[in-house]
Amino acid sequence: MIKGFARKYFEGKCCIYCGKYGLLRLKDGRLKCKNCYKYYSIKKLKTDIQILYYFYLEISGRKTAREMNLNYKTIQSRFMNFRKCIKNYSDNQARKLNGKLELDESYFGGKRKGNRGRGAFNKTIVFGILERKGKIYLKIVENVSKENLMKAIENKTKKGSVFYTDGFKSYNSLSQFGKHNIIKHSEDEFAKGHNHINGIEGFWSYAKERLHKYHGIKKNNYPLYLKEMEFRYNFRNENIFNLLFDICIRRSI
Ligand SMILES: [Zn+2]
Repeated sequence: MIKGFARKYFEGKCCIYCGKYGLLRLKDGRLKCKNCYKYYSIKKLKTDIQILYYFYLEISGRKTAREMNLNYKTIQSRFMNFRKCIKNYSDNQARKLNGKLELDESYFGGKRKGNRGRGAFNKTIVFGILERKGKIYLKIVENVSKENLMKAIENKTKKGSVFYTDGFKSYNSLSQFGKHNIIKHSEDEFAKGHNHINGIEGFWSYAKERLHKYHGIKKNNYPLYLKEMEFRYNFRNENIFNLLFDICIRRSI
């Protein structure tokens, strides 16, 4: 079931630490690297890789626990740990977004339908910047004040970008960072042309649909789940399993 890049590790051919071939199989079942002299348990590694594989396939913690005959809490804590690794990885990506950028905010969690004013109580407010044909960046904000949004834009976008937003007042001073296009909802689709935020609105649906199946994520866990959504979206055209293996297992072993 494990394909490609991770297979050589899964089969105990390559060292998980240094990536070199040449491992000695010890009597107690552990492997010892001939190159860097480190030891590890192949049994534990195989379990870790299998858990990660289910996570990669977005199979629920309960189902994974049943399939692997392991405790649900064990699986759940491993899954949360993978999300932490993803968040660390994403937080270290310093590249600023540029080009055509769509900006929008959205409300996650809570029971009532949220909006910018009333109804936002107990919801996680997420500000997003989507680079057309590129990456998305998500930031949880306390509120959608001009100060909060402008700070995030300043930190994460290149000056001179082209911004697309709706007419919300917190975006009023956006022209200090680049060209600001405001979308008027009254315009028909044809008149809009490039002037839309369909990309980021599509992302919100993508993320909400995926998060819905977890049935009530605790508010303080939202940052981790959202960074997972950001990661899955940003690497949608790449081999995510290989990348997950690298950042959740190889670098954190
Ligand atoms: Zn090694």
